[in-house]
Amino acid sequence: MELLKGFEHFVSQNEPLAPFTWLRIGGAAEYYAEPTNVNDLAEVVRRCREHDIPVRLLGNGSNLLIRDEGVPGMVIRLNHPSFSEISVSGQTVTAGGGARLAHVISTAVGAGLAGLESLVGIPGTIGGALHSNSGSHGSDIGQWTVKVEAMTRSGEVVQRSGEELQFAYRQSSLDELAILKAEFQLESVDAGELTRKMQKLWIMKKSSQPDGDQSTCCPFCNASDMSAGTLIEQAGLKGTSVGGAQVSESQGNFIIANADATADDVLRLMDLIRSRVHEVLGIELQNQIVVW
Ligand SMILES: Cc1cc2nc3c(=O)[nH]c(=O)nc-3n(C[C@H](O)[C@H](O)[C@H](O)COP(=O)(O)OP(=O)(O)OC[C@H]3O[C@@H](n4cnc5c(N)ncnc54)[C@H](O)[C@@H]3O)c2cc1C
Repeated sequence: MELLKGFEHFVSQNEPLAPFTWLRIGGAAEYYAEPTNVNDLAEVVRRCREHDIPVRLLGNGSNLLIRDEGVPGMVIRLNHPSFSEISVSGQTVTAGGGARLAHVISTAVGAGLAGLESLVGIPGTIGGALHSNSGSHGSDIGQWTVKVEAMTRSGEVVQRSGEELQFAYRQSSLDELAILKAEFQLESVDAGELTRKMQKLWIMKKSSQPDGDQSTCCPFCNASDMSAGTLIEQAGLKGTSVGGAQVSESQGNFIIANADATADDVLRLMDLIRSRVHEVLGIELQNQIVVW
């Protein structure tokens, strides 16, 4: 096929996406690519544009719900090591869009650079975290970000800095197709003390999440200065299930996908939660999770 010509070594068809997501459910991508470098990525993006094929970026799948019927078009994952490089220079940490947030945090902390440690325990990649300005413990990734390199939908590489970088609660101005690289300006502190702080934050974070081996997602944003978890608990929804999808018994804003769950079960459970919270508390919950 014309679209795939020359890309056979890193593009596949009808690729199941469930194994790449934290919920481990949902259908396949019509086309799936793991480019090995920026040039390959640009070529695929341009070829898809020529053929009018929609393109989506997949990070670590911790904020994604893939519908059961799958995803039309091309899904690209920056899984090659060339997209995951991390380096430190003075107080600046530079990381690829495919780098795991956890690796970037531990590199910064090891170098005695403070700021990102508040995000410890959030699963995902730098690209995914910047896309929705991930945050925790009153801090978010945007506040430390000084420069971003991204690829546009026409395959052009652009730099964003200063006024072009705007972040708000779970939102960023980065609407380019792919986040390729980011620079974080951090604060020098004692590495030993910082490591102890990160360990404490990690324990707190883990105690607020369901067991690590469960297939899970964090479906809603906080609302009206209240955590979504508290609102869901106040609406009496802990443990509520639809098909194989269940609101966590321990943490309100987590949905667990049991072995027999479908993406449709999760969507129906989310609808039920939204309407019950609105009915009981008069508050409209907004999705945090991205639905494909
Ligand atoms: C157990 C658990 C705990 C969580 N705790 C928190 C928390 O405390 N705080 C918080 O903010 N979130 C939390 N989340 C949500 C999630 O971890 C974050 O949103 C995370 O940053 C998503 O990153 P990802 O790489 O997994 O992105 P994905 O889920 O793969 O993608 C999410 C979105 O980002 C886009 N994207 C991914 N990579 C790129 C890229 N390189 N360029 C452009 N766009 C890209 C995708 O297209 C998609 O729209 C939690 C999720 C789970 C499962």
